Amino acid sequence: MGEFDLIARYFTRPVRRATLGVGDDCALLAPAPGMQLAVSTDMLVEGRHFFANVDPEALGHKALAVNLSDLAACGARPLAFTLALALPRVDQPWLQAFAGGLLRLADDHGCELIGGDTTAGPLNICVTVFGEVPAGQALLRSGARAGDDIYVSGTLGDARLALDALRGHAQAAALPAALLAAARQRLERPTPRVALGLALRGVASSALDVSDGLLGDLGHILRASGVGACIDLSKTINLIAFSALQASATAQFDADYLQQCTLAGGDDYELAFTAAPTHRADVAAAAQASGTPVTRIGVVETTPGLRLIDAQGRPLVRHYASFDHFA
Ligand code: ADP
Ligand code: MG
Repeated sequence: MGEFDLIARYFTRPVRRATLGVGDDCALLAPAPGMQLAVSTDMLVEGRHFFANVDPEALGHKALAVNLSDLAACGARPLAFTLALALPRVDQPWLQAFAGGLLRLADDHGCELIGGDTTAGPLNICVTVFGEVPAGQALLRSGARAGDDIYVSGTLGDARLALDALRGHAQAAALPAALLAAARQRLERPTPRVALGLALRGVASSALDVSDGLLGDLGHILRASGVGACIDLSKTINLIAFSALQASATAQFDADYLQQCTLAGGDDYELAFTAAPTHRADVAAAAQASGTPVTRIGVVETTPGLRLIDAQGRPLVRHYASFDHFA
């Protein structure tokens, strides 16, 4: 099967919202009047972002999910995406499963595949998504103000726990099989919080998606906004999903290891955001309307830097390093 048959077979579908899709030199998108286009690209590289033997259906899902997560963080509604693929060989069952996972998630979000590029080479997947947001209403990293509450959606740390287990980390690998399977779902099939991002327009003062670890990612909001923050670690310890699933399992774990997973684990694809305390009811309504739990974990302060406290408000001196490809 050649390049063009492959594109036709697995990656070409009739256009819906776009003006022109796969098959010409450019695709054409017509943003609605008064809307801004939100654009984001994320690349997944074998050996770096996923294992060579990962389920291709899950990989297709994740390649788009991590991009939709960026749209969610901006409060943008997904429109379309392009797919640049380097493939070592044409493996039809693999392509079938990959395209299945990718296009199912795309359909769930009404986000259509409108173009891309296909070459031979080491497996590499690069998606660019396009979304739309009413002009001036995008959620940005730069809007946090002293006194705002800090929130995070969903659960944090499960993806890291699963990754550690796959790498043979003694504590993580000792997890009961059912818990490990649930954590692995979070690693391999993250849920982009698109509905929450949309519901937070006009409510959140700043937002981003947590991909490299909560504290490091929050640092981006703080620097962009010229503020600092205080985080209550008695709130974050409960964010790891499996603690809710089975309290007895949590007891076997070193609390510091669990905090490391929740605060700096990475690959969570949850939203971290800030909102003025006057918006507490609106945040709760956004969470309810989008079916996404949110937890208030701290407060924005004028003094730059990130401070950690315990349940009694006592300062804790700990360092949790987030993921950095070149550190
Ligand atoms: P060009 O030579 O202009 O870059 P190509 O010959 O590479 O175009 O691709 C032909 C068409 O197929 C283009 O419309 C391109 O956007 C689309 N395309 C290529 N690879 C993919 C892919 N993996 N998924 C979706 N569309 C693709
Ligand atoms: Mg090309």
